[in-house]
Amino acid sequence: MPKLSIEDLSLKDKRVIMRVDFNTPIDGNGKITDNTRIRLAIPTIEYILKHGASLILMSHLGRPKGEKDKKYSLKPIAIHLSSLLGKDVEMANDCIGKEVEETASSLASGNILLLENLRFHPEEENPDLNPEFAKSLASLADIYVNDAFGTAHRKHSSTYTIAKYFPKAAATGFLMKKELNFLLDTIFNPVKPFYAIIGGAKVGSKIKIFKSLITKVDAFFIGGGMAYTFYKAMGKSIGKSICDNEMIKVASSFLSDAHEKGVPVYLPIDNVVANDFRSDADHKTVLSEKGIDDGWQGMDIGEKTIHLWKDKLKAGKTIYWNGPMGVFEMDVFAKGTFAIAKTLAGLTATTIIGGGDSVSAINTLNLEGSFSHVSTGGGRVS
Ligand code: AMP
Repeated sequence: MPKLSIEDLSLKDKRVIMRVDFNTPIDGNGKITDNTRIRLAIPTIEYILKHGASLILMSHLGRPKGEKDKKYSLKPIAIHLSSLLGKDVEMANDCIGKEVEETASSLASGNILLLENLRFHPEEENPDLNPEFAKSLASLADIYVNDAFGTAHRKHSSTYTIAKYFPKAAATGFLMKKELNFLLDTIFNPVKPFYAIIGGAKVGSKIKIFKSLITKVDAFFIGGGMAYTFYKAMGKSIGKSICDNEMIKVASSFLSDAHEKGVPVYLPIDNVVANDFRSDADHKTVLSEKGIDDGWQGMDIGEKTIHLWKDKLKAGKTIYWNGPMGVFEMDVFAKGTFAIAKTLAGLTATTIIGGGDSVSAINTLNLEGSFSHVSTGGGRVS
């Protein structure tokens, strides 16, 4: 996510390439049936043009599966945008290639070029297939702006890879800024009770989240690999479970701090443990109060924990979730993560999902649309 805002950059006589989310519904006659997303992009578009830049817009539309398909052409959107802005919007026949480069380089200040659907190229969704794709998009402009909040959490060529070609000239647009502010507001001024569920493995980087939230949160739920550092801090045996030894003191001081402030910290009451870090390892469920024996390691939260947490989470009005509850990449240890995802998806509370792995878990379950916000840094799925 770019750190700069568009207002931080000088735009005069620059060429700006902006990722927008024009993934709008279009009927069989090429008519746009809901233009909300196009309208939402207009403040940033107008700002860029008013400040003397030329503008290249890029977006995806639908799921053309990496191939050209007329049905998913952005041409109707160019026409619609042109009527909303009251000015010409030139339509490119592709998003990369010689012809596009020539059109882009001759684009005069104040003019707009809309590139053809990014997803006509498989590299858009899979940047690793060919990093040259993002580079070709980047070569069209001097400045990169991302205003596509709906897709900002995805690591696609046009939303993620491209930014590295603009180390000092990548910025967020107004829509993105507004949504991010809303997100921060939700977390820092939450409707109570506010619960934080933290999992995953990187205690070091996430402890900052714990600390910043301690005065806001009404209860913490700590699962995933993270939990074992906390157990160790409490003097429990954890076998060969993942543990960040350097963070034990920090975990311990967090627990005392939470205790002093009267904020409950729920750790799993039972764990699925395995005798090896493999999907076909022997595994069983053990109660946390008994500790984890030598030779075994925690891989997921257990059924009892799932049951208890499901019940407690029902009371939440705002819930922030970051990090899986277990080694969810292995089906046999994915139960806890998926159960939490499904529970949150079924609540009416404001639910905010952060962290790439939690996001990938909900994508696997096709639950993207069931959360208020889904982000790696702040994106809402649409
Ligand atoms: P993070 O980037 O901190 O969100 O960590 C995500 C990773 O944590 C995922 O790859 C999970 O497989 C891993 N993880 C979750 N629970 C455990 C666990 N009990 N033991 C080892 N790794 C875990």
